[in-house]
Amino acid sequence: MINTQNIEIEKTKHSKLSQTDFTNLEFGAVYSDHMFVMDYKDKQWGGLRIVPFQNISMSPATSVLHYGQTIFEGLKAYRADNGDILLFRPLDHHKRLNKSAKRLCMPELDESAYLEGITELIKLDRAWIPNQPGCSLYLRPFMYASDEFIGVKPSSTYKFIVFTSPVAGYYKGTVKVIIETEYVRAAEGGTGFTKSGGNYAASLLPAKLAAEKGYQQIMWTDSKEHKYFEESGTMNLMFIIGDTLVTPPLSTSILAGITRDSILTLAKDWGVKVEERRVSVDEVVKAYENGTLKDAFGTGTAATITQISTINYKGTDLVLPGEETRELSNKLNKALNDIKLGKAEDKFGWIYRIK
Ligand SMILES: *Cc1c(COP(=O)(O)O)cnc(C)c1O
Repeated sequence: MINTQNIEIEKTKHSKLSQTDFTNLEFGAVYSDHMFVMDYKDKQWGGLRIVPFQNISMSPATSVLHYGQTIFEGLKAYRADNGDILLFRPLDHHKRLNKSAKRLCMPELDESAYLEGITELIKLDRAWIPNQPGCSLYLRPFMYASDEFIGVKPSSTYKFIVFTSPVAGYYKGTVKVIIETEYVRAAEGGTGFTKSGGNYAASLLPAKLAAEKGYQQIMWTDSKEHKYFEESGTMNLMFIIGDTLVTPPLSTSILAGITRDSILTLAKDWGVKVEERRVSVDEVVKAYENGTLKDAFGTGTAATITQISTINYKGTDLVLPGEETRELSNKLNKALNDIKLGKAEDKFGWIYRIK
């Protein structure tokens, strides 16, 4: 066990807080004053410290730069009306980080070191949590292979860093998406269920090609037949067909979104019919044609729910009902955001409160 009482703290002498315009935040462009760091060597984590946000210096031979052994998480902290800091499901993010670590042959993180590191960091930078509506402090924990060695093998040393960024709502409004039938995001048995850097690198070209056609996101289909839906962009994907909320089941090629789980939990609690099963493109096109496709949306930490306005399939646009008609996803979005902000009862124990 790591003694987490021993986080060394070096405070910045040049806070950027007063130069930051909190009324004009972009997603991921500004970073708060400090970061939490620890090192893995000799088969254990140590050197827990909080230091001013700063550049990392490394050898050009550092393993991560060549073979991509790197994983990350993304979670948010909110400021409640009484001034408490609320973190949304941080322990679930820790568990998922460890799943990613295992798959990428990286060391797992001790829960208490992770949680105390994050807690001390946020306490120190609490003034960076925006209280404008829709805004929050985005936390980016990540780990990378730091050996100076260019043979292909798991690194023996790693760094874990958490830095934070005040953000506005990720995406306002709906998105137009295109069903991908050539490229794949992830295949069964691969790393799609992890948040590892390479997954995102591989998605950039198809996303760029989609953007050139006027679509902001891709609806990924399965790698074998391009017949079944997987995810949308970097979000999990849900449909409302008739009165049923339908979503693809988790697999090794689908990221187990914490928003996905939260939405399914809420919907079931409200008595909504929920099905986790394979959803084919054919089924959705047919539902669109016979008028039972009521809604399609992505779920993720950055935007909670992003409704899809248009789905392009093989050159034809399916135009979905207007946002205002989408009662269930609007209601789920509001309910989940109210829980995150401490405005609604936390029935499922999702909130981690820092006084
Ligand atoms: C992070 C991510 C999600 C959403 O996960 P949340 O825990 O809800 O933020 C979905 N799909 C992919 C590919 C992701 O990287």
